[in-house]
This record gives sequence, structure tokens and C-alpha cells, in this order.
Amino acid sequence: MVERPLTLMAVHAHPDDEATGTGGVLARYAAEGIRTVLVTCTDGGCGDGPGGVKPGDPGHDPAAVAAMRREELRASCEVLGIGHLELLEYADSGMMGWAANDAPGSFWRTPVEEGAARLAELLKQYKPDVVVTYDENGFYGHPDHIQANRITMAALEMTGMTPKVYWTTAPRSQMQRFGEVMREFGGDWEEPDPAEAAALAEIGLPDEEITTWVDTTAFGDRKFDALAAHASQGENIFFLKMGKERFTELMGTETFVRVQDTTGAAVPENDLFAGLR
Ligand SMILES: [Zn+2]
Repeated sequence: MVERPLTLMAVHAHPDDEATGTGGVLARYAAEGIRTVLVTCTDGGCGDGPGGVKPGDPGHDPAAVAAMRREELRASCEVLGIGHLELLEYADSGMMGWAANDAPGSFWRTPVEEGAARLAELLKQYKPDVVVTYDENGFYGHPDHIQANRITMAALEMTGMTPKVYWTTAPRSQMQRFGEVMREFGGDWEEPDPAEAAALAEIGLPDEEITTWVDTTAFGDRKFDALAAHASQGENIFFLKMGKERFTELMGTETFVRVQDTTGAAVPENDLFAGLR
């Protein structure tokens, strides 16, 4: 029997999500010799264009934005040491309520079974031991993130061969800290209104519900550099303003909730591969 390398697959919605949410684990496990696979579901065409032109504004060309972001994604993968990049190339669906949600080819409009069937082929090809994606709310409600969760969970069910499955999350204690740093570095960032604040308070999980805390502080520089590769996107600039040290302090531990497990590894755990090596 040919020995297969331990494999981590991360399923993300847009170019740059790999850096923000899982840049630390991707860099750390790649450095440990684990095979890393990134699946990016959309082309990111609803992101900011060159010069910061916003979607819907004159001069915003989704195809050009997608092409730029594909290059940024490749640069980010290089920084993180990601071994395999798989692009599903669905059209970015934009934020909830945008017309792009229902545009032809949008990821959000794609039937779950269709996206799941394509992802299932990749699961069969790479046979990952660990799969990471978003929670059912897509972390903060973005339709493409929700859809990434749906196709991933459906594909995992179709194939039924992945020992450990995780959803990215953030501890509520950190969200509070995050709010403080936003105010410090956010510049024009304003205090959210009560409805927004309530929605923000729903993001992440109470600390005691988090099953998996992975220390990636040694890879804070890589994560920062990967995000810097996506500097065309306005929301990343806020992180980059922090500088590496503060960024690593805030973003150096990546947290997950384990939703599927055949290893019986005790939780809380500090390694996505606990029980597998
Ligand atoms: Zn995203």
C-alpha cells in the first residue's frame, strides 16, 4: 500500500478568506509536512477593483477584479506554502440582498447538489484527513460563505470518508478585543448601531463551546504577508495597518468547532490532527 500524506483541505468562498480565517493553520501544517489543499469556490468578482473601486460603481468590472484576485490568491498560496489550489470559479454572489445573489452563475444560485458533486470529486482525489470550512451562518452571514458550508457538508456526506471536520469560529472573548482594536485602527470605523452590534455579538461562540485552539503565532508573519497579498480589498487594509506584531497578537490563535470526528481525540484539543498522528 502506498503511504498517503496527512492532508488538510480548507474550503473557502473568496480569494483572501484563506488568509484571514485559516492562514495560520495552512502555514503551520504545510511547514510540518502535511499536504495542504485550498478550494476557493468563487472568483471574488464582487470585491474591490483596482484603485479601490467598489462593486456597482462606474468602472467596476467583475471579470477584471476576478483576474486580479486570482493572481493575489496565487501569491497568498505561495506565502502560506499551500500545496494545491483548486478553483471552482463560481461567480461571487456579493453581500446578502445584492442583485449579484441571483445573477447567472452565482455561487448562491448554484444548486447545493451541483456544487457538492464537484467538491466530492476533490474529496475523492485528495482524501483529506481534515476538512475545514465555515459554520452554517458563514461566520457572518455572507451568502457565499453559507453556500461553502452547504456544499462542503453535502459533499462530505456523499463521500463519507473524512475523519475530522471543522468549522472556523472565533471566541466571544476575542470578538470583544477585536472591537477595541477596530476602534484603535479602524480610522473611519464607527460604533455600530444597536441592531448591528447585536448581530456582531452573535458571531463566533462562547469560549467554552470552542473545541479546538491552534497556536499559530509562529506563523503570524506568514498570515500577515498572505493578507498583504490581498491588499486590493478594503477590509484587509485595516488588518495591515495594525502591523505584524499587533496582528499576530490578535489573530495568532485560530479556533474551530469540531463537527465530525472518528478519532475520539479528547476536546478541547490544540491540533486539528489530534488522534490522526
Ligand atoms: Zn469571503
